[in-house]
Amino acid sequence: MSLDRSTLFIDGEWAAPASSDTIQVVSPHSEQVIATVPEGTTTDIDAAVAAARRAFDSGPWSRMSPEERIEIVQNFSNLYAGKLGEMAELITLEMGSPTSFANLAQSPAPWMQIEAFLGIAREFPWEERRTGVLGTDVVVRREPVGVVAAIPPWNVPQFTIMSKVIPALLSGSTVVVKPAPETPLDTYLMAELLLEAGVPAGVVNIVAGGREVGAHLVAHPGVDKVAFTGSTAAGRKIAAVCGEQLKRVSLELGGKSAAIVLDDADLGAAMEGLKFTALMNSGQACVAQTRILASRANYDNVVSALAETVSKMQVGDPMDPATEIGPMVAQRQQERVEKYIALGQEEGARLVIGGNGMPDGLSSGWYVRPTVFADVDNAMRIAQEEIFGPVLSVIPFDDVDDAVRIANDSEYGLAGTVWTGDVEAGLDVARQVRTGTYGVNTYTMDFSAPFGGYKNSGVGREFGPEGLAHYTELKSIYTP
Ligand code: NAD
Repeated sequence: MSLDRSTLFIDGEWAAPASSDTIQVVSPHSEQVIATVPEGTTTDIDAAVAAARRAFDSGPWSRMSPEERIEIVQNFSNLYAGKLGEMAELITLEMGSPTSFANLAQSPAPWMQIEAFLGIAREFPWEERRTGVLGTDVVVRREPVGVVAAIPPWNVPQFTIMSKVIPALLSGSTVVVKPAPETPLDTYLMAELLLEAGVPAGVVNIVAGGREVGAHLVAHPGVDKVAFTGSTAAGRKIAAVCGEQLKRVSLELGGKSAAIVLDDADLGAAMEGLKFTALMNSGQACVAQTRILASRANYDNVVSALAETVSKMQVGDPMDPATEIGPMVAQRQQERVEKYIALGQEEGARLVIGGNGMPDGLSSGWYVRPTVFADVDNAMRIAQEEIFGPVLSVIPFDDVDDAVRIANDSEYGLAGTVWTGDVEAGLDVARQVRTGTYGVNTYTMDFSAPFGGYKNSGVGREFGPEGLAHYTELKSIYTP
């Protein structure tokens, strides 16, 4: 079956694009073109924003009761639940996410988000009455924020789209989604499900395209809020535009998180955990804990356990269920990771396993060798900059205070873990590390709780009631 598409999704219809420009979606494994879709232009963005504006300003979506919207989003969720396998497969095809990860995080997790937001919306204080302090009463309402520009990255496309589209829908807002050019295919399936669920025309519009098209959407006067996930560099530019225009903005950006392995940790369990938390999605994850902190006393044990664990991970075809590390999304990303591997060696880090060149048994595809560096100083660029691939740095610490200091010595503040035999001691570490999420002997993003970054990892939060609140404006109505 061909995955080619010739239309965009605007105003509830499969709309002809304004130009004949196309995006070629290329498999990172085979390096072959697997689909061609229209490349959106600024004219298409204008049409999509106009549709979203009409759907918001004239209704019916923005004027429905929360219960009516919940019913339609629940329809969407039920339909989505029936397509989890198809959605995961599309994402594996377009960006090379290993099936073992895709069948966990690329479609089940987005669906779990929908269900979690539905539960939150059912309890959310959309309108509450307060007894005022001046003898009047106050009705406090949470009203929709308006037209939302949702801009996701390619690494977890549905995950980062659902975290924006679902709270926007539940609030009564309308949306223009601009998928990354690497991953447009999953959004066609999503649009089919939205149509089937009965989401009215114009409420969600989808125009895939590159940075220029994204920048046009961000600056568009018809947009009330920008919800962005991507690099810190792009986030800064977007925040500057939103600041100038006083638009609402939430930003989920990069990370360089640390996993602290304390001496009393169960080393086997910690290594099993790090396979996921450090290397999920082939290392292409914002929350990846790529700095592994080990005490000087336990350092050699941690380095050899990590090297053994990583060297046993299966690298190869992402469609193979046994694969744990797939290709990088694009050739430019493969080159970027290889540059960092070369840089680590130039900086004086000790290459324990991996290094540049194709992994054994592979001759094509944008693969890199999973790499572990030891004797890394936290000031090195490989320890400070987001590599976004399977490259880990093991950094020594003197004591727990020193470990916390090193974990915090980063421009980022997204995630982290501590591995220890004493959960209370782990919680104590968690309280001191300045990141938006943290795990003790585990790292699972729970959709009931806020997710986001300190420092250069972002502004605002997704998930939980806090994530839904970002799609609302507060209004106080005073009554006698
Ligand atoms: P990117 O910033 O290059 O692109 C992200 C998206 O923004 C794409 O759709 C792109 O087309 C668009 N874009 C880029 N510049 C833009 C601009 N000036 N205006 C409007 N749109 C613009 O990032 P990427 O390479 O696609 O993704 C990798 C980055 O995403 C990493 O830094 C990663 O840490 C981050 N990320 C963060 C989270 C999180 O929740 N914090 C989750 C996933 C990925």
